[in-house]
Amino acid sequence: MMGLEKKLENIDTNHAIELAPRVWWVGHVQEGDPFQCHVYLIEQGDQSILIDPGSKLTFANTLRKINEVIPFTSIKYFVCQHQDPDITGAIPLIEQLLCRDDAVVVTHWRTKMLLKHYGFAIPFWLIEDNDWQLELDDRTLSFCFTPYAHFPGAFTTFDPESGIMFSSDLFGGLTEEFSLFAEDEAYLECMKPFHQHYIPSNDILQYVLSEIEKYPMRMIAPQHGSIIPKHLIPYMIDGLKSLDCGLYLLLRGTTDFNKLAKFNETLKNITKTMTIYRDFREIAAALFKLIQGEISIKSLDFYVRDTDGDMLHFTEKNHYRGHAVTHVPEMVAQVFEAEDIPDTRDGNERYELKTIEVSGVVCESLLIPLVLPGKGAAQAVILISLESLDNDQEKIQRVVEQMHLPLQISIEREMIYRDMEKEREKIYQRSIRDPLTNLYTRIYMKDVVQKLFDQQDREKGANEIAIMVDIDHFKSINDTYGHSQGDAVLQGVASAILELCSSADIPIRLGGEEFVIFSQADCSNALTFAERLRQRIESIQWEGLSKDRRVTASFGVACREPKESLDTLITRADVALYRAKHSGRNRTCVYEEEQPNVK
Ligand code: GH3
Ligand code: MG
Ligand code: MG
Repeated sequence: MMGLEKKLENIDTNHAIELAPRVWWVGHVQEGDPFQCHVYLIEQGDQSILIDPGSKLTFANTLRKINEVIPFTSIKYFVCQHQDPDITGAIPLIEQLLCRDDAVVVTHWRTKMLLKHYGFAIPFWLIEDNDWQLELDDRTLSFCFTPYAHFPGAFTTFDPESGIMFSSDLFGGLTEEFSLFAEDEAYLECMKPFHQHYIPSNDILQYVLSEIEKYPMRMIAPQHGSIIPKHLIPYMIDGLKSLDCGLYLLLRGTTDFNKLAKFNETLKNITKTMTIYRDFREIAAALFKLIQGEISIKSLDFYVRDTDGDMLHFTEKNHYRGHAVTHVPEMVAQVFEAEDIPDTRDGNERYELKTIEVSGVVCESLLIPLVLPGKGAAQAVILISLESLDNDQEKIQRVVEQMHLPLQISIEREMIYRDMEKEREKIYQRSIRDPLTNLYTRIYMKDVVQKLFDQQDREKGANEIAIMVDIDHFKSINDTYGHSQGDAVLQGVASAILELCSSADIPIRLGGEEFVIFSQADCSNALTFAERLRQRIESIQWEGLSKDRRVTASFGVACREPKESLDTLITRADVALYRAKHSGRNRTCVYEEEQPNVK
């Protein structure tokens, strides 16, 4: 077939063109007509066949080309694969030219019912009465029934000799520039507008393609567009199999192929957005762009009531992160107040078009409530502010339908996620505060202090000290006065620590009766700070303890070396504390390099 194409490179469409031995193209190229109607002739002596004869506009040229090949009167069979005028308009002209009695119009009974209204006298030869075959001298044509793809009684004709499938409207394309042969894969795009809108459903197309595929095709010769050579057939069939069909059913009122196809793409992308993105922020931002491509909108906002009853506002300006708000536009508030709103999940669609004032600007807006299952009240309201007042209602409805349910699910998911986040935050807050003393915990220290150190290392110059505090003989307080009295002492010591710490200091209860304070103090001030605290603790008058009972604590101080880790700093402060304990308690020791190994 490639060889044939080569031969046909310089084809002259002013003359009949031989596509295969004794199979001819006898159509007529109409200037500026993207619908080009092709006519094919199978040369078979006085039993010759003309496939889809053409219209009154083209027939004179077709006749001239037929006569270049055979006398017109040699044609016995006039195959009409469907009833449209671009195929059959020429039949009354043909009737005038015929001078034989045995000529027939080959068609299907359903097509015959329509064709008879032309009132011609040529008899019909029905394919279904002839076992869907037409036997000729050297070949038997097969007819393949393709009903409702475009027309009720439509069929295609296969010639096993040439391997050509005369496909009529199927595989037809709208071509800007005439090309008898499809040159490459791009022809699929020409077929799309031709089929996408008028074939009512992909199911029908799938059925028809699966029937056609059974034939060993070497070429597909449609009535419109371009002839498809063998090497492109699988690609074109595959492409058609996944075609969206029946777009006219989706959007009435426009006949603009391109607009319809683009809109269909947008609708598909709305659904796709929901599956690609998990994050509500990404979904909302992507939807905003998608909708803007179809309806001119100013803004896409979401108002959502969370489980605590707080109102959140998700808007493009806050990148759909959601901010708590105390005020919502009046119309939105009304939707939240409404009861018995039907659930979208039951197939109900509900949106209102209202004139509304948003950020001081009055515009037409869509208010779409999103309802929790079985609740009847809005959990969220989508607010779409439209750019102009003359909007395509049909389009808006389709867009709203497409995004309603997925958005509802996505908002629910977002709110569940936020609830979980709140819970996590609560648990974390609990984990970083010691409930007895309200000081920070070891967990907080691990999370925050090392980060603080890293930051200080980057900035250089800031000093950090660690002061370890351990209450002396605390066990005996428990033993003498009881555990709860011990708790009271722990609280009292913690209060003293908090009292002397500045807001920049980080006091931590490490566990038991051990504390550590991180302070951005100068190393020379560390000892003073620790001593003040030691004296403060020592001076506390304890209720519940014997009048003269003093509680004391020992202190170990270490000044952080540049780049020193949290762990080694604490270890050094601990070493100093150990020294304080072993040299008599109730004192402060500063870590010194020469004396770390005190036993
Ligand atoms: P030293 O001067 O060597 O530090 O002696 P100490 O008794 O203070 O130290 P030790 O580590 O032997 O005892 C600490 C005690 O603190 C043991 C433990 O029962 C008690 N303790 C730990 N946590 C708590 C608490 O939350 N409340 C009370 N009341 N006691 C606690
Ligand atoms: Mg201890
Ligand atoms: Mg102790």
